[in-house]
Amino acid sequence: MKQIYLDHAATTQLDEAVLKKMMPYMRDYYGNPSSIYTIGRESKRAIEEARDIVASCFNCKNSEIYFTSCGTESDNWAIKGVCAFNKNKGKHIITSNIEHHAVLDTFLYMKKQGYEITVVPVEKNGIIDPLKIEKEIRKDTILISVMFANNEIGTIQPIAEIGSIARKNNIIFHTDAVQAAGTIPIDVKEMNIDLMSISAHKFYGPKGVGALYIRRGIMIDNLFHGGGQERTRRAATENISGIIGLAEALKLSLENMDYNNNHIKKIRDAVKRGIEQKIPYIIYNGDPSQRLVNNINFCFRFIEGEALILMLDFKGISASSGSACTSGSLDPSHVLLALGLPHEIAHGSLRLTFGRDSSMEDVDYIVDSIAQVVDRLRQMSPLYETFVKEQG
Ligand SMILES: *Cc1c(COP(=O)(O)O)cnc(C)c1O
Repeated sequence: MKQIYLDHAATTQLDEAVLKKMMPYMRDYYGNPSSIYTIGRESKRAIEEARDIVASCFNCKNSEIYFTSCGTESDNWAIKGVCAFNKNKGKHIITSNIEHHAVLDTFLYMKKQGYEITVVPVEKNGIIDPLKIEKEIRKDTILISVMFANNEIGTIQPIAEIGSIARKNNIIFHTDAVQAAGTIPIDVKEMNIDLMSISAHKFYGPKGVGALYIRRGIMIDNLFHGGGQERTRRAATENISGIIGLAEALKLSLENMDYNNNHIKKIRDAVKRGIEQKIPYIIYNGDPSQRLVNNINFCFRFIEGEALILMLDFKGISASSGSACTSGSLDPSHVLLALGLPHEIAHGSLRLTFGRDSSMEDVDYIVDSIAQVVDRLRQMSPLYETFVKEQG
């Protein structure tokens, strides 16, 4: 049966060229980079080359890039590290209400540790108003953390504006750029970013490796204690092949960014048009233009998102919903609720995220499958029946 993968925001397939680059560092150069003999030195050299590549992709120095185990670790390190180092300066930290759980739950943890948190709500289009952040700044504010692009609704935040507000007020600015890296050009200097998280598996790299950009002069506590790796800031023997893979995947993503984005956007827009033409009573979530080119997110009234996902799976389509079961809780996604959607509508959400392996040839099949499944689920819904009767 046809398999159509439309969940690139969850993860992406490892690029063959990237895997090829990684292989020698899994098989031949297994030496510990901290060792001084030849196979150790080659590992070390390769890691430093990877660091140069990543730094050049974001316009920073190689000494400002630290490799981690994932986006989640980078987010945890940035937030906990800033809080711990600056606790005598202040204990107030600011974020948005549409962050990934890696940021949001770390903020909630900091709250338990005695920090004061302010969660600034986004506007109805899923974009934050930088002035609302500026208003929340206090004398004891030590950190602002706002994501670059949202993983559910794809909205791109005004990062450069928030960065300049933070810099003006002498507050550290962290951004979770896990969804943006490889898709949007990022210049950390120009955008006044102090800390930035990325993760390789979101841009066709391997799972289990990420990076944190730490601007020179920004002091944060360590999350891991142990050996002297990563210039004494992140203990643990390096994931050499992962680091090589991250750098290669990032480099390829940047080289092919325009081509991939155009390709993906064409398919995304065709599917969006098809859904809007074929299916009534729907809501398009998130700003229509200030969003990632690969993302669409709809709410279909009168249905449950997880039923939709399971039935699409029967048709060979892998998609995602921000609703109940998938997140392991009964509440719908905090991101959809942040847009002001009522619970019952937020439950009927569908997120499709396209990738460079997506094909124009699949558009009709995707649209027809979704239309069929939505129609079938609505036919089974008593709410829909009542609604149709009332409409006369
Ligand atoms: C996937 C994702 C993360 C987590 O990254 P991992 O490498 O899977 O830990 C964090 N933030 C955002 C926005 C993400 O999309």
